[in-house]
Amino acid sequence: MCPTLPYNTGTDLEDVWSLVSGCTPVSMGCDNCAARTAMLAAGTTFDVRINWDMLQHPRNIKAPTSLFLCPFGDLFHERVPFALAHAALKVIRETPQHTYHILTKRASRLVSFFEAQKIPSNVWLGVSAENSKWGKDRVEALLTLRTRATNLFVAAEPLLGDLRAIDLRGIDWVIAADEKGQNARPVSTAIVQDLEAQCLESNVNFLNTIGLQVVRWGSISSNYINRS
Ligand code: SF4
Repeated sequence: MCPTLPYNTGTDLEDVWSLVSGCTPVSMGCDNCAARTAMLAAGTTFDVRINWDMLQHPRNIKAPTSLFLCPFGDLFHERVPFALAHAALKVIRETPQHTYHILTKRASRLVSFFEAQKIPSNVWLGVSAENSKWGKDRVEALLTLRTRATNLFVAAEPLLGDLRAIDLRGIDWVIAADEKGQNARPVSTAIVQDLEAQCLESNVNFLNTIGLQVVRWGSISSNYINRS
């Protein structure tokens, strides 16, 4: 699932695993999709395609690495068969030295897939929540996996409104990010502060990346491990 930020690929500890390229919009958080902008700028279409040739990519990385899945698409897009997620899960299980972050706006498909699977402890499962309206059902769906997943996160990205209608208890991390680019919609300081307070009340870790150019997923994982 595409982030609105460019995820860091510049160190030997963080990488991306681009199993899917291309997507279709699902909600207002997609209006300025950074993946679409980047792919169109690169002269490719934004049609959904599966990059089977990338499947073994994590096996070629020896040092423990934090990998963000599908920054230019969504592993749980309706046109992506579960066969790809099954194949990815096999690689994930066989590379326990790595940490994997899977983020989607299609929470019901993520849950449909993982409710029938043992969830490896090196997987972080997350949903996007740009505001209460669009995030509520996704977070509720994600929380149905609570007892079986080690790490659940909410990407409040791009943060477009408050999340007050969402019960965040049981989520491990909320990561707030603003939109980037020419048509970026601004986020108010009040909304960010309110989300931070809500996380505090709900005993959820909060990471504010507003204004940063890069989200360091490896750092987030390390923080979580240190906290545990
Ligand atoms: S779900 Fe993510 S990748 Fe797909 S259109 Fe929306 S923002 Fe872009």
